[in-house]
Amino acid sequence: MKEKYKVYLRSPKWKKLREKVLERDEHQCRTCASSDELHVCHRTFERIYHEKLSDLITLCRPCHDAIKCAVERRKNTEVKIELKNYVRTTPRYIPPAHEEKMPLR
Ligand SMILES: [Zn+2]
Repeated sequence: MKEKYKVYLRSPKWKKLREKVLERDEHQCRTCASSDELHVCHRTFERIYHEKLSDLITLCRPCHDAIKCAVERRKNTEVKIELKNYVRTTPRYIPPAHEEKMPLR
């Protein structure tokens, strides 16, 4: 992990944003509804350090790990990974023009 990102995760700005995301997601994992070990994760790193609320999602640790794993395995492909309530694209994924950018809810 890059140092800048680590520092960012300790910043008041991130803490505030994280709190907002947890509130929006009602302190529940968005794929399995667990309320244990919640992480606020990036759905896209496109606007890193200036994220919109829709760029972030609440996931429990097992779901977050599963998704990180799925993205990592497919990082050299052009796929979109979809789980219940969750869409994540690999870095090479190019959305078709008509596709709304990662809709939430
Ligand atoms: Zn979960």
